[in-house]
Amino acid sequence: MSILVMKFGGTSVATLDRIRRAAKRVGREVANGHDVIVIVSAMAGRTNELVGWVEETSPLFDAREYDAVVSSGENVTAGLMALTLQEMDVPARSWQGWQVPVQTTSAHASARIEAIPPENIMAKFAEGMRVAVVAGFQGISPEGRITTLGRGGSDTTAVAFAAAFGAVRCDIYTDVDGVYTTDPRITSKARKLDRISFEEMLELASLGAKVLQTRSVELAMRYKVKLRVLSSFEEPDETAGTLVCAEEDIVESNVVAGVAHSRDEAKLTLTDVEDRPGIAAAIFGPLADAGVNVDMIVQNISEEGMTDMTFSCPVNEVKRAEKAMADAKDRGEIDFGALVADTDVAKVSIVGIGMRSHAGVAAKMFKTLRDEGINIKVITTSEIKVSVLIDRKYMELAVQALHAAFGLDRAA
Ligand code: ADP
Ligand code: ASP
Ligand code: MG
Repeated sequence: MSILVMKFGGTSVATLDRIRRAAKRVGREVANGHDVIVIVSAMAGRTNELVGWVEETSPLFDAREYDAVVSSGENVTAGLMALTLQEMDVPARSWQGWQVPVQTTSAHASARIEAIPPENIMAKFAEGMRVAVVAGFQGISPEGRITTLGRGGSDTTAVAFAAAFGAVRCDIYTDVDGVYTTDPRITSKARKLDRISFEEMLELASLGAKVLQTRSVELAMRYKVKLRVLSSFEEPDETAGTLVCAEEDIVESNVVAGVAHSRDEAKLTLTDVEDRPGIAAAIFGPLADAGVNVDMIVQNISEEGMTDMTFSCPVNEVKRAEKAMADAKDRGEIDFGALVADTDVAKVSIVGIGMRSHAGVAAKMFKTLRDEGINIKVITTSEIKVSVLIDRKYMELAVQALHAAFGLDRAA
């Protein structure tokens, strides 16, 4: 028996008609002899709506109740997909995360999958069920409460199931026909990649390319899951989509594989902070405790024992950050002049394993941005990426300019 995992994202299950179309595809794989685990997202827009309701009800919400609400979109599509398959005479059953059970940590709103015992689903396959439809994005904590895996988490559900069940492949069906050199919504010159390495995909995802959730790529890399991204709107053939694979399996590549962007960033600066041992811990400890995902950090040169500390975080976490800093000040743990928030910034990054062996990549990036008159506010680098924080209004321009400058408009 071979198990195939097929994941359908929000746009692929946005209407009953699209669910029918996705179900037909599942039916074909069943006819090919696979037992199929289908992972579904909520219908397009539904999770955003649920998140909006939570935030409107309670701005600094209890994350356990957030999870109770936002996980519900997937329950609807799982049941509808199972019903659609049954109508096509395909033996199918739906499962919510807790029923499998998808065991996660108790980090609500960003839980990690710890284990997926396969017994319950395998027993049903043994009885003749051909398709298990699983609600993506959700699990159950050790305390028995519903958890969610962070936005885009159905990708991670899919890869985790592929690993847990030893699936032959994990196919991620979405609204683009693969992974592109940059978000095709930003430039029509973006090109589909036939293959991309796990390392590059991991960076692109963590820097904002939401085609795959970062954690899903991590899991695929660790458990050697054969991961493919393809369109749910086109008929696939053997070469369809993009294969995310090991570096060794890529023959040709550009120095820069892709350009990623993250629109909703914020830059916060604490002015007049005392420059002493332990100050970074005193600032970033409370931010971490408050669930603020700090990304870039810059500490200015110290003058007369005082410094400025700048960091970036998602724009919707600014309120939490401000409260965490004000509370830490009240408790006497830190002192600072002001907390200045710039909520109109975006992050643009270039990624490529070729950077390991090529000098001058960062310089070329900075020159390209200079030629467009774009000011850089913060820079961070790693072995295979360079990221800059810029004014949000220049984000598209920056992506397009870098895409052209690094030759991504043409094939490698
Ligand atoms: P789904 O609902 O199927 O999970 P998502 O909206 O989460 O789909 O992810 C697909 C979207 O990711 C695409 O519509 C595209 O705009 C965006 N995207 C960003 N960067 C890339 C990239 N490098 N390649 C392909 N798509 C990308
Ligand atoms: N519905 C969830 C979200 O929008 C999970 C997913 O689609 O992957 O984040
Ligand atoms: Mg997604």
